[in-house]
Amino acid sequence: MKIAILPGDGIGTEIVEQAVKVLNALGQKFEMETAPVGGAGYEAHGHPLPEGTLKLAQEADAILFGAVGDWKYDTLERSLRPEQAILGLRKHLTLFANFRPAILYPELVGASSLKPEIVSGLDILIVRELNGDIYFGQPRGMREAPDGPFKGAREGFDTMRYAEPEIRRIAHVAFQAAQKRHKRLTSVDKANVLETFQFWKDIVTDVHKEYPDVELDHMYVDNAAMQLVRAPKKFDVIVTGNMFGDILSDAAAMLTGSIGMLPSASLDANNKGLYEPSHGSAPDIAGKGIANPLATILSAAMMLRFSLNLPAEADRIEAAVKKVLTQGLRTPDIYEAGTTKVGTTEMGDAVLKALS
Ligand code: NAD
Repeated sequence: MKIAILPGDGIGTEIVEQAVKVLNALGQKFEMETAPVGGAGYEAHGHPLPEGTLKLAQEADAILFGAVGDWKYDTLERSLRPEQAILGLRKHLTLFANFRPAILYPELVGASSLKPEIVSGLDILIVRELNGDIYFGQPRGMREAPDGPFKGAREGFDTMRYAEPEIRRIAHVAFQAAQKRHKRLTSVDKANVLETFQFWKDIVTDVHKEYPDVELDHMYVDNAAMQLVRAPKKFDVIVTGNMFGDILSDAAAMLTGSIGMLPSASLDANNKGLYEPSHGSAPDIAGKGIANPLATILSAAMMLRFSLNLPAEADRIEAAVKKVLTQGLRTPDIYEAGTTKVGTTEMGDAVLKALS
Protein backbone atom coordinates (compact mmCIF):
# COMPACT_ATOMS: atom_id res chain seq x y z
CA MET A 1 0.00 0.00 0.00
CA LYS A 2 1.56 3.20 -1.18
CA ILE A 3 0.83 6.46 0.59
CA ALA A 4 1.87 9.81 -0.87
CA ILE A 5 2.87 12.15 1.95
CA LEU A 6 2.42 15.82 1.01
CA PRO A 7 3.10 17.95 4.10
CA GLY A 8 2.94 21.36 2.35
CA ASP A 9 3.52 24.62 4.21
CA GLY A 10 3.28 26.24 7.63
CA ILE A 11 2.09 23.83 10.30
CA GLY A 12 1.60 21.20 7.55
CA THR A 13 5.04 19.72 8.09
CA GLU A 14 4.67 19.65 11.90
CA ILE A 15 1.29 17.92 12.00
CA VAL A 16 1.95 15.45 9.18
CA GLU A 17 5.09 14.30 11.00
CA GLN A 18 2.90 13.26 13.94
CA ALA A 19 0.44 11.37 11.73
CA VAL A 20 3.29 9.53 9.95
CA LYS A 21 4.68 8.53 13.35
CA VAL A 22 1.32 7.04 14.27
CA LEU A 23 0.96 5.21 10.92
CA ASN A 24 4.44 3.73 11.32
CA ALA A 25 3.51 2.34 14.72
CA LEU A 26 0.62 0.25 13.37
CA GLY A 27 2.82 -2.63 12.27
CA GLN A 28 1.55 -2.49 8.67
CA LYS A 29 3.73 -2.43 5.57
CA PHE A 30 3.08 1.02 4.15
CA GLU A 31 5.30 2.42 1.45
CA MET A 32 5.42 6.14 2.15
CA GLU A 33 6.96 8.70 -0.17
CA THR A 34 7.11 12.42 0.55
CA ALA A 35 6.92 15.23 -2.03
CA PRO A 36 6.72 19.05 -1.88
CA VAL A 37 3.41 20.79 -2.53
CA GLY A 38 2.04 24.33 -2.26
CA GLY A 39 4.58 26.98 -1.33
CA ALA A 40 7.14 24.20 -0.78
CA GLY A 41 6.48 22.96 -4.32
CA TYR A 42 6.89 26.49 -5.68
CA GLU A 43 10.19 26.95 -3.82
CA ALA A 44 11.55 23.57 -4.98
CA HIS A 45 10.27 23.40 -8.57
CA GLY A 46 8.64 26.75 -9.41
CA HIS A 47 5.09 25.34 -9.27
CA PRO A 48 2.68 24.63 -6.38
CA LEU A 49 1.87 21.21 -7.84
CA PRO A 50 5.16 20.00 -9.38
CA GLU A 51 4.93 17.26 -11.99
CA GLY A 52 6.69 14.72 -9.73
CA THR A 53 4.26 15.44 -6.88
CA LEU A 54 1.23 14.98 -9.13
CA LYS A 55 2.68 11.73 -10.51
CA LEU A 56 3.27 10.40 -7.01
CA ALA A 57 -0.30 11.33 -6.01
CA GLN A 58 -1.66 9.59 -9.11
CA GLU A 59 0.31 6.40 -8.44
CA ALA A 60 -0.38 6.18 -4.71
CA ASP A 61 -3.32 4.31 -3.15
CA ALA A 62 -3.99 7.27 -0.88
CA ILE A 63 -2.63 10.74 -0.14
CA LEU A 64 -1.98 12.25 3.26
CA PHE A 65 -1.93 16.01 2.89
CA GLY A 66 -0.97 18.66 5.46
CA ALA A 67 -1.92 22.19 4.40
CA VAL A 68 -0.70 24.80 1.95
CA GLY A 69 -0.45 28.57 1.90
CA ASP A 70 1.39 31.51 3.33
CA TRP A 71 0.74 35.21 3.18
CA LYS A 72 4.13 35.71 1.50
CA TYR A 73 2.79 34.13 -1.70
CA ASP A 74 -0.22 36.49 -1.93
CA THR A 75 1.48 38.63 -4.58
CA LEU A 76 2.19 35.69 -6.92
CA GLU A 77 -0.03 35.32 -9.97
CA ARG A 78 -3.01 33.13 -9.09
CA SER A 79 -1.87 30.01 -10.97
CA LEU A 80 1.34 29.89 -8.92
CA ARG A 81 -0.21 30.39 -5.48
CA PRO A 82 0.04 27.44 -3.04
CA GLU A 83 -3.74 26.94 -2.83
CA GLN A 84 -3.81 26.03 -6.54
CA ALA A 85 -2.10 22.75 -5.62
CA ILE A 86 -5.12 21.50 -3.73
CA LEU A 87 -7.52 22.59 -6.47
CA GLY A 88 -5.25 20.88 -9.02
CA LEU A 89 -5.12 17.62 -7.07
CA ARG A 90 -8.91 17.59 -6.68
CA LYS A 91 -9.33 18.19 -10.40
CA HIS A 92 -6.62 15.81 -11.72
CA LEU A 93 -7.67 12.96 -9.42
CA THR A 94 -11.43 13.67 -9.78
CA LEU A 95 -11.83 13.89 -6.02
CA PHE A 96 -15.42 15.06 -6.10
CA ALA A 97 -16.76 13.98 -2.71
CA ASN A 98 -15.51 15.71 0.39
CA PHE A 99 -16.45 14.12 3.72
CA ARG A 100 -16.16 16.34 6.76
CA PRO A 101 -17.39 14.74 9.94
CA ALA A 102 -17.98 17.17 12.82
CA ILE A 103 -17.89 15.18 16.02
CA LEU A 104 -17.73 16.72 19.46
CA TYR A 105 -15.74 14.60 21.89
CA PRO A 106 -17.44 14.73 25.32
CA GLU A 107 -14.10 15.84 26.82
CA LEU A 108 -14.15 18.98 24.63
CA VAL A 109 -17.68 20.19 25.36
CA GLY A 110 -16.23 23.19 27.19
CA ALA A 111 -14.07 24.15 24.19
CA SER A 112 -17.07 24.54 21.86
CA SER A 113 -18.36 28.04 21.25
CA LEU A 114 -21.91 26.79 21.92
CA LYS A 115 -23.58 25.91 25.22
CA PRO A 116 -23.10 22.27 26.28
CA GLU A 117 -26.83 21.48 26.14
CA ILE A 118 -26.97 22.55 22.49
CA VAL A 119 -23.84 20.82 21.31
CA SER A 120 -23.00 17.81 23.49
CA GLY A 121 -23.26 14.55 21.58
CA LEU A 122 -22.87 16.32 18.22
CA ASP A 123 -22.05 13.92 15.38
CA ILE A 124 -22.84 15.24 11.91
CA LEU A 125 -21.35 14.65 8.49
CA ILE A 126 -21.04 17.31 5.80
CA VAL A 127 -20.70 15.95 2.26
CA ARG A 128 -19.42 18.75 0.04
CA GLU A 129 -19.20 18.54 -3.76
CA LEU A 130 -15.65 19.41 -4.66
CA ASN A 131 -15.16 19.54 -8.42
CA GLY A 132 -17.74 22.00 -9.66
CA ASP A 133 -19.69 25.14 -8.75
CA ILE A 134 -18.49 28.72 -8.91
CA TYR A 135 -14.94 27.67 -7.87
CA PHE A 136 -14.32 26.06 -11.25
CA GLY A 137 -17.03 27.49 -13.54
CA GLN A 138 -15.92 29.29 -16.68
CA PRO A 139 -15.92 32.03 -17.84
CA ARG A 140 -14.44 34.02 -15.00
CA GLY A 141 -12.16 36.98 -14.70
CA MET A 142 -12.09 40.75 -14.74
CA ARG A 143 -13.39 42.93 -17.52
CA GLU A 144 -15.36 46.02 -18.44
CA ALA A 145 -19.01 45.41 -17.49
CA PRO A 146 -20.79 44.69 -20.80
CA ASP A 147 -24.22 45.68 -19.46
CA GLY A 148 -26.17 46.51 -16.29
CA PRO A 149 -26.28 49.70 -14.21
CA PHE A 150 -22.46 49.88 -14.11
CA LYS A 151 -21.90 49.21 -17.82
CA GLY A 152 -18.35 50.16 -18.79
CA ALA A 153 -17.02 50.02 -15.21
CA ARG A 154 -14.41 47.41 -14.22
CA GLU A 155 -16.00 44.27 -12.78
CA GLY A 156 -14.98 40.85 -11.47
CA PHE A 157 -17.13 37.86 -12.45
CA ASP A 158 -17.37 34.09 -11.92
CA THR A 159 -19.73 31.44 -13.23
CA MET A 160 -21.81 29.14 -11.05
CA ARG A 161 -22.71 25.92 -12.84
CA TYR A 162 -23.47 22.28 -12.10
CA ALA A 163 -24.02 19.53 -14.67
CA GLU A 164 -26.62 16.84 -13.99
CA PRO A 165 -24.09 13.94 -13.67
CA GLU A 166 -22.07 15.98 -11.17
CA ILE A 167 -25.11 16.46 -8.95
CA ARG A 168 -26.24 12.86 -9.34
CA ARG A 169 -22.90 11.35 -8.30
CA ILE A 170 -22.56 13.48 -5.16
CA ALA A 171 -26.22 12.85 -4.28
CA HIS A 172 -25.65 9.08 -4.49
CA VAL A 173 -22.57 9.35 -2.25
CA ALA A 174 -24.53 11.40 0.29
CA PHE A 175 -27.59 9.10 0.32
CA GLN A 176 -25.31 6.08 0.79
CA ALA A 177 -23.47 7.83 3.64
CA ALA A 178 -26.84 8.60 5.27
CA GLN A 179 -27.86 4.95 4.93
CA LYS A 180 -24.85 4.01 7.06
CA ARG A 181 -25.77 6.58 9.73
CA HIS A 182 -29.19 7.76 10.96
CA LYS A 183 -30.79 7.79 7.50
CA ARG A 184 -31.47 11.53 7.37
CA LEU A 185 -30.13 13.77 4.61
CA THR A 186 -30.44 17.55 4.33
CA SER A 187 -29.68 18.99 0.92
CA VAL A 188 -28.58 22.61 1.25
CA ASP A 189 -29.21 24.97 -1.66
CA LYS A 190 -30.24 28.50 -2.58
CA ALA A 191 -33.00 27.46 -4.95
CA ASN A 192 -35.04 30.57 -4.17
CA VAL A 193 -32.43 32.79 -5.88
CA LEU A 194 -30.09 30.66 -8.01
CA GLU A 195 -31.05 28.63 -11.10
CA THR A 196 -28.07 26.33 -10.49
CA PHE A 197 -29.44 25.37 -7.11
CA GLN A 198 -33.04 24.96 -8.26
CA PHE A 199 -31.58 22.40 -10.67
CA TRP A 200 -29.53 20.89 -7.81
CA LYS A 201 -32.68 20.52 -5.71
CA ASP A 202 -34.62 18.87 -8.57
CA ILE A 203 -31.86 16.33 -9.23
CA VAL A 204 -31.34 15.47 -5.56
CA THR A 205 -35.11 14.96 -5.25
CA ASP A 206 -35.01 12.63 -8.23
CA VAL A 207 -32.07 10.58 -6.87
CA HIS A 208 -33.99 10.24 -3.60
CA LYS A 209 -36.40 7.84 -5.37
CA GLU A 210 -33.60 5.24 -5.24
CA TYR A 211 -33.16 5.65 -1.47
CA PRO A 212 -36.66 5.45 0.03
CA ASP A 213 -35.22 4.44 3.41
CA VAL A 214 -33.51 7.84 3.76
CA GLU A 215 -35.49 10.86 4.89
CA LEU A 216 -34.63 13.87 2.70
CA ASP A 217 -35.26 17.52 3.41
CA HIS A 218 -34.12 20.67 1.63
CA MET A 219 -32.85 23.80 3.34
CA TYR A 220 -31.69 27.19 2.07
CA VAL A 221 -28.07 27.86 2.89
CA ASP A 222 -28.78 30.93 5.03
CA ASN A 223 -31.19 28.92 7.18
CA ALA A 224 -28.69 26.02 7.32
CA ALA A 225 -26.02 28.40 8.67
CA MET A 226 -28.47 29.57 11.32
CA GLN A 227 -29.60 26.04 12.26
CA LEU A 228 -25.98 24.87 12.55
CA VAL A 229 -25.45 27.25 15.46
CA ARG A 230 -29.03 27.11 16.82
CA ALA A 231 -29.71 23.36 16.87
CA PRO A 232 -26.84 21.50 15.16
CA LYS A 233 -27.86 18.08 16.47
CA LYS A 234 -30.97 18.19 14.26
CA PHE A 235 -28.70 17.30 11.32
CA ASP A 236 -27.41 13.86 10.41
CA VAL A 237 -25.85 14.20 6.93
CA ILE A 238 -25.73 17.48 4.99
CA VAL A 239 -25.02 17.49 1.24
CA THR A 240 -24.24 20.70 -0.57
CA GLY A 241 -22.25 22.37 -3.32
CA ASN A 242 -18.64 23.43 -3.30
CA MET A 243 -18.95 27.01 -2.05
CA PHE A 244 -21.75 26.50 0.49
CA GLY A 245 -19.96 23.40 1.78
CA ASP A 246 -16.73 25.32 2.18
CA ILE A 247 -18.40 27.88 4.42
CA LEU A 248 -20.76 25.60 6.38
CA SER A 249 -18.06 23.06 7.19
CA ASP A 250 -15.87 25.75 8.77
CA ALA A 251 -18.83 26.89 10.86
CA ALA A 252 -19.41 23.28 11.91
CA ALA A 253 -15.72 23.04 12.79
CA MET A 254 -16.05 25.61 15.54
CA LEU A 255 -18.90 23.64 17.12
CA THR A 256 -16.41 20.90 17.84
CA GLY A 257 -14.11 23.14 19.83
CA SER A 258 -11.36 23.76 17.31
CA ILE A 259 -10.71 23.44 13.63
CA GLY A 260 -7.61 21.55 14.80
CA MET A 261 -9.85 18.56 15.62
CA LEU A 262 -11.54 18.10 12.24
CA PRO A 263 -10.36 15.52 9.72
CA SER A 264 -11.55 15.31 6.12
CA ALA A 265 -11.52 12.95 3.17
CA SER A 266 -11.84 13.78 -0.52
CA LEU A 267 -12.74 10.72 -2.55
CA ASP A 268 -13.02 9.71 -6.19
CA ALA A 269 -15.53 7.19 -7.53
CA ASN A 270 -13.29 4.25 -6.47
CA ASN A 271 -12.63 5.39 -2.91
CA LYS A 272 -9.11 6.54 -3.68
CA GLY A 273 -8.71 9.62 -1.58
CA LEU A 274 -6.83 12.60 -0.32
CA TYR A 275 -6.93 12.97 3.45
CA GLU A 276 -6.23 16.25 5.18
CA PRO A 277 -7.19 18.28 8.23
CA SER A 278 -10.00 20.76 7.54
CA HIS A 279 -7.82 23.69 8.53
CA GLY A 280 -5.17 25.61 6.61
CA SER A 281 -1.45 26.13 7.14
CA ALA A 282 -1.95 28.50 10.10
CA PRO A 283 1.06 30.75 9.37
CA ASP A 284 0.35 32.61 12.62
CA ILE A 285 1.45 29.62 14.71
CA ALA A 286 3.77 27.80 12.27
CA GLY A 287 7.14 26.83 13.74
CA LYS A 288 5.99 27.38 17.32
CA GLY A 289 5.33 23.70 18.00
CA ILE A 290 1.81 24.36 19.30
CA ALA A 291 -0.41 23.25 16.38
CA ASN A 292 -2.97 20.59 17.14
CA PRO A 293 -2.03 17.44 15.17
CA LEU A 294 -5.23 15.52 16.01
CA ALA A 295 -7.18 16.51 12.86
CA THR A 296 -4.33 15.13 10.75
CA ILE A 297 -4.00 11.98 12.84
CA LEU A 298 -7.78 11.48 12.54
CA SER A 299 -7.49 12.08 8.77
CA ALA A 300 -4.96 9.24 8.65
CA ALA A 301 -7.56 7.06 10.42
CA MET A 302 -10.13 7.99 7.75
CA MET A 303 -7.56 7.02 5.10
CA LEU A 304 -7.17 3.57 6.64
CA ARG A 305 -10.94 3.11 6.72
CA PHE A 306 -11.97 4.48 3.30
CA SER A 307 -9.02 3.86 0.98
CA LEU A 308 -6.81 1.17 2.54
CA ASN A 309 -9.50 -1.12 3.92
CA LEU A 310 -7.99 -1.28 7.40
CA PRO A 311 -10.99 -0.43 9.60
CA ALA A 312 -9.57 -2.07 12.74
CA GLU A 313 -6.43 0.09 12.51
CA ALA A 314 -8.63 3.17 11.99
CA ASP A 315 -10.55 2.25 15.15
CA ARG A 316 -7.26 1.89 17.05
CA ILE A 317 -6.17 5.40 16.12
CA GLU A 318 -9.54 6.93 16.97
CA ALA A 319 -9.58 5.15 20.33
CA ALA A 320 -6.04 6.41 21.04
CA VAL A 321 -7.10 10.00 20.29
CA LYS A 322 -10.06 9.63 22.62
CA LYS A 323 -7.75 8.25 25.29
CA VAL A 324 -5.34 11.21 25.21
CA LEU A 325 -8.29 13.59 25.49
CA THR A 326 -9.60 11.62 28.47
CA GLN A 327 -6.13 11.85 30.00
CA GLY A 328 -6.59 15.63 29.86
CA LEU A 329 -3.91 16.45 27.30
CA ARG A 330 -4.65 19.56 25.26
CA THR A 331 -2.86 21.66 22.67
CA PRO A 332 -3.44 25.41 23.28
CA ASP A 333 -6.38 25.66 20.82
CA ILE A 334 -8.47 23.28 22.98
CA TYR A 335 -6.93 24.08 26.37
CA GLU A 336 -9.15 24.70 29.39
CA ALA A 337 -8.29 25.25 33.03
CA GLY A 338 -7.70 21.95 34.79
CA THR A 339 -6.24 20.20 31.74
CA THR A 340 -2.59 19.74 30.74
CA LYS A 341 -1.21 21.93 27.98
CA VAL A 342 1.05 20.10 25.51
CA GLY A 343 2.74 20.92 22.20
CA THR A 344 2.43 19.29 18.78
CA THR A 345 5.13 16.64 19.28
CA GLU A 346 4.02 15.76 22.82
CA MET A 347 0.47 15.27 21.55
CA GLY A 348 1.74 13.00 18.76
CA ASP A 349 3.83 11.03 21.25
CA ALA A 350 0.85 10.67 23.58
CA VAL A 351 -1.30 9.22 20.76
CA LEU A 352 1.52 6.85 19.91
CA LYS A 353 1.71 5.68 23.53
CA ALA A 354 -2.08 5.33 23.75
CA LEU A 355 -2.03 3.09 20.64
CA SER A 356 -0.36 0.34 22.58
P1 NAD B 1 -6.20 28.45 8.94
O1 NAD B 1 -7.13 27.30 9.04
O2 NAD B 1 -4.82 28.17 8.53
O3 NAD B 1 -6.16 29.19 10.36
C1 NAD B 1 -7.31 29.77 10.97
C2 NAD B 1 -7.08 29.88 12.49
O4 NAD B 1 -7.11 28.57 13.06
C3 NAD B 1 -5.69 30.46 12.85
O5 NAD B 1 -5.82 31.26 13.98
C4 NAD B 1 -4.86 29.23 13.14
O6 NAD B 1 -3.81 29.47 14.06
C5 NAD B 1 -5.90 28.27 13.72
N1 NAD B 1 -5.56 26.88 13.45
C6 NAD B 1 -5.66 26.24 12.24
N2 NAD B 1 -5.24 24.97 12.35
C7 NAD B 1 -4.87 24.80 13.63
C8 NAD B 1 -4.33 23.70 14.36
N3 NAD B 1 -4.09 22.51 13.81
N4 NAD B 1 -4.04 23.87 15.67
C9 NAD B 1 -4.29 25.03 16.27
N5 NAD B 1 -4.79 26.12 15.65
C10 NAD B 1 -5.07 26.00 14.33
O7 NAD B 1 -6.90 29.49 7.96
P2 NAD B 1 -6.36 30.90 7.42
O8 NAD B 1 -5.60 31.60 8.50
O9 NAD B 1 -7.55 31.57 6.84
O10 NAD B 1 -5.39 30.54 6.23
C11 NAD B 1 -3.99 30.37 6.37
C12 NAD B 1 -3.43 29.86 5.05
O11 NAD B 1 -3.93 28.54 4.83
C13 NAD B 1 -3.87 30.66 3.83
O12 NAD B 1 -2.77 30.76 2.95
C14 NAD B 1 -5.00 29.84 3.23
O13 NAD B 1 -5.16 30.04 1.86
C15 NAD B 1 -4.51 28.45 3.54
N6 NAD B 1 -5.56 27.41 3.59
C16 NAD B 1 -5.19 26.20 3.10
C17 NAD B 1 -6.09 25.14 3.16
C18 NAD B 1 -5.63 23.80 2.66
O14 NAD B 1 -4.43 23.57 2.53
N7 NAD B 1 -6.52 22.86 2.40
C19 NAD B 1 -7.36 25.33 3.72
C20 NAD B 1 -7.68 26.58 4.24
C21 NAD B 1 -6.76 27.63 4.18
